[in-house]
Amino acid sequence: MLAGKTALITGSTSGIGLGIAEQLAKNGANIVLNGMGDAVEIETTRARLEAAYPVKVRFHGADMSQPEAIEAMFQSVDAEFGGVDILVNNAGIQYVAPVDEFPTPKWDAILAINLTSAFHTTRLALPHMKKQQWGRIIQVASAHALVASPFKSAYVAAKHGIAGLTKTVALEVAELGITVNAVCPGYVWTPLVEKQIPETAQARGITEAEVIQNVLLTAQPTKKFVTVEQVAALASFLASEVAASITGAVIPIDGGWTAH
Ligand code: NAD
Repeated sequence: MLAGKTALITGSTSGIGLGIAEQLAKNGANIVLNGMGDAVEIETTRARLEAAYPVKVRFHGADMSQPEAIEAMFQSVDAEFGGVDILVNNAGIQYVAPVDEFPTPKWDAILAINLTSAFHTTRLALPHMKKQQWGRIIQVASAHALVASPFKSAYVAAKHGIAGLTKTVALEVAELGITVNAVCPGYVWTPLVEKQIPETAQARGITEAEVIQNVLLTAQPTKKFVTVEQVAALASFLASEVAASITGAVIPIDGGWTAH
């Protein structure tokens, strides 16, 4: 389905990004993994995907808060594959604290990794997409691109920002065969969610079990976590030919959260 195409998925050493990478590999795209983590584990993942699907799988460890590192990653991908056909902006971090106690370095890091990196990857991916008159840009945004929660000022600001970037770029490239969309998951059980449970418990003065039941799952009318596979399936659909008329869309996949 995506044979001959190359997909770069930022932050794909774990969680949702890895799930999307695997689905796109299954669909036939060459894959560029990116992200942080243990070098041996990352190589094991890379080799597993390459053995499971008839595609090339590469890894580039660019720190998405560093524009020069992002540029170096694109130079290496362009040299090997001729460009990125499917860009998935997924890398993200979270930090939970009241705004007047929010550490400035955390604010800066969240804005850099969750929002500004998508500006850099988009500007670097577009020349190739424009030349071939085909491209897919998929942001892994969040329900927090549409609604807010207390104590997540940087994250909510960054995710609302990515919704704006999505719509703007979609309009700029609408006639060129390139679509730009954001998927907005509710809570998905990944390391990112697991790590914020103790912080949320502290910020709200409740137990960790209460965070899961009374904060996370209360937001979602289905009372179930969204799964990585469900988000990967939506991203895979947006990458396909039949999704050519979906662009500039900010699409919830949140168990009904934003219907409230
Ligand atoms: P995760 O922690 O499992 O994965 C995050 C990925 O980003 C990892 O591969 C990590 O190495 C990478 N990363 C972090 N900092 C980086 C940096 N500086 N440079 C490069 N890579 C970096 O988390 P996840 O839940 O899979 O989150 C993926 C995306 O999905 C994020 O953008 C997150 O905001 C979004 N999201 C998650 C949920 C959820 O409930 N888990 C809900 C909505 C949106």
